[in-house]
Amino acid sequence: MSTGNAILVINAGSSSLKFSVFREKPGGDVAVAINGQISGIGTEPKFEAKDTSRRVLADKAWGAGEKSDRTALLSYLLDWVEEHLEGAKLIAAGHRVVHGGSKYSHPVLLTPEVLAELDALIPLAPLHQPHNLAAIRALAEAHPELPQVACFDTAFHRGQPWQSQTFALPRAMTEEGVRRYGFHGLSYEYIARRLPEVAPELADAHVVVCHLGSGASMCAIKAGKSIDSTMGFTAVDGLPMGTRTGRLDPGVLIYLMRAKGMGADELEKLLYNKSGLLGVSGVSNDMRVLLESAEPHAAEAVELFCHSVAKETGALAASMGGLDAIVFTAGIGERSAPVRARVAKKLAWLGVHLDPDANDANEAKISAPDSRIPVWVIPTDEERMIAQHTVEVMEQR
Ligand code: ADP
Repeated sequence: MSTGNAILVINAGSSSLKFSVFREKPGGDVAVAINGQISGIGTEPKFEAKDTSRRVLADKAWGAGEKSDRTALLSYLLDWVEEHLEGAKLIAAGHRVVHGGSKYSHPVLLTPEVLAELDALIPLAPLHQPHNLAAIRALAEAHPELPQVACFDTAFHRGQPWQSQTFALPRAMTEEGVRRYGFHGLSYEYIARRLPEVAPELADAHVVVCHLGSGASMCAIKAGKSIDSTMGFTAVDGLPMGTRTGRLDPGVLIYLMRAKGMGADELEKLLYNKSGLLGVSGVSNDMRVLLESAEPHAAEAVELFCHSVAKETGALAASMGGLDAIVFTAGIGERSAPVRARVAKKLAWLGVHLDPDANDANEAKISAPDSRIPVWVIPTDEERMIAQHTVEVMEQR
């Protein structure tokens, strides 16, 4: 890896943890050197790592009961990383943390006080926040000397206008924190930084960015800043996703509670795990499978998804007062030409026209020369954004 500084990036979930090792380059940029993951946390852990040419660097499995706690696994990870630094110095670990609440509009160096504040946000993101924080605590226990930085998925949206962040609820509830936060912020921030590099003419433009992965959302970005987004208080709002409903009339929940006797846990499972592409198709949550399926319900799920993306494009353009470009990113956005083509067709009234060959080839610019609105595909890189933030926080120390 050569000498210089290295950063460990961690994206921790409930039973798995993805990690990357980045190297700092002259000028403050970063480049990935190693990608890996620990899966089966709490059951039968497995540790895998590859270099950038996909050469396997580690492939280790433990039996049930071995390395059963996170601290032991993170201690193993750190020892392994240190053995693979090849002379570089590990300066910090950067974590993806889903929720930074109203307070954090920037990444932050973690201290016990900051961690306690982030604990208080667990009820706002119960499926992600506890696992993000557990990894931070486990690493702090195993290696208290290593600085750790939290990078929030909400932070990029904190500068949104008041009306984009507010529900029409009684004011006291907004003040308690029941408001629109927006997520996928690290992805949008990465795209906002990348856009002027790939399309300098769009640096100050009104851009709708479609982050279409298994979790999907969209963001209105004006001159590099978030103005509005489809995800709100939680990451279940907005577009239908792999297994999440997306936007739902809140009256449906009251109906389900009253008429079907459903409680919070059951509703949570319904909204997060059983709905979206999976619920509508009854076939799969994977867009690739749906596009290849002959089932009419699979086609309907795809249609509902594309319809929502087109509809939200209009809403976000109105919210920021213009539309100069559309960007697709994440799994579906970067790789699914049929989905992009269908969304573009629904936006033809706005003057959106794709170049079919460029679209099929997943090229960077996929709009036709006569398209009034240029359409771009820009691969996102949330890990790289975290590594960059971590370097910046360490430099400001
Ligand atoms: P995550 O939100 O988990 O980070 P990704 O951004 O990697 O996920 O997106 C994963 C999703 O992208 C998959 O569930 C799959 O539906 C979709 N996907 C990946 N490749 C393709 C493809 N070639 N065509 C259509 N959909 C794809």
